[in-house]
Amino acid sequence: MTGLERAKRRAPVVTIDGPAGAGKSTAARELARRLGYRLIDTGAIYRAVAWRLREAGVNPEEEQAVRRVLDETTIDLRDGVVLLNGRDVTGEIRSPEIGALTSRVSTLAAVREKFTPIQRRLAAGGGVVLEGRDTGSIVCPDAEVKFYLDASVEVRVIRRQRELEGQGIPADPDSVRSEILRRDRQDMARALAPLVIPAGATVIDSTGRSVEEVVRLMLEEVARHGCSTRS
Ligand code: C5P
Repeated sequence: MTGLERAKRRAPVVTIDGPAGAGKSTAARELARRLGYRLIDTGAIYRAVAWRLREAGVNPEEEQAVRRVLDETTIDLRDGVVLLNGRDVTGEIRSPEIGALTSRVSTLAAVREKFTPIQRRLAAGGGVVLEGRDTGSIVCPDAEVKFYLDASVEVRVIRRQRELEGQGIPADPDSVRSEILRRDRQDMARALAPLVIPAGATVIDSTGRSVEEVVRLMLEEVARHGCSTRS
């Protein structure tokens, strides 16, 4: 590709997928900051949907009721703040209960049918880092740079435990471990948009690597694809 052709293209789309606790959120936030791109945390969208269904007292198995609630639900992501119908739910959606419910809710066709196109529109202009489970496989299969971030279960349990404790939520390692394994199983085994290594993705194992090292590897990969930054 010539420099002119490259300059005419949209700013790049970078996707980061992987299992719970692999360090995606921290790496994605830092990568987006360093590149001057917008961060789109797709998990926050699904968490907000789960929160909304719980608030409305809707059983995820009742499809019509789910669709009715979705019709009256708007979710905005603004600088790390998650707004659900205008209400700030940023903190509330991070609880382990919402995490477990989200894993179930995100298997629903009605939910993915509504939010996958919204995520595509958010990414359409480029200059974004998308983070989630299906961002490089389903949402943006044509993304310029794709990552799959993984880590050993042991490390993921420790990270998740620290994260919860940082939010003042007591967490014992055994229940964190079973929560992580249950979410892995559900996210990887579901029929719609399962967690997979997207075609063309660079796999990074963050076990034993600092956030700085992971982000450096990602920046090198972005540079290797000839993507320029906005900042
Ligand atoms: O990344 P986070 O832990 O916030 O994601 C919560 C849940 O949302 C995941 O376990 C997964 O079930 C769901 N999810 C998804 N597709 C995405 C992002 C998250 O199904 N792109």
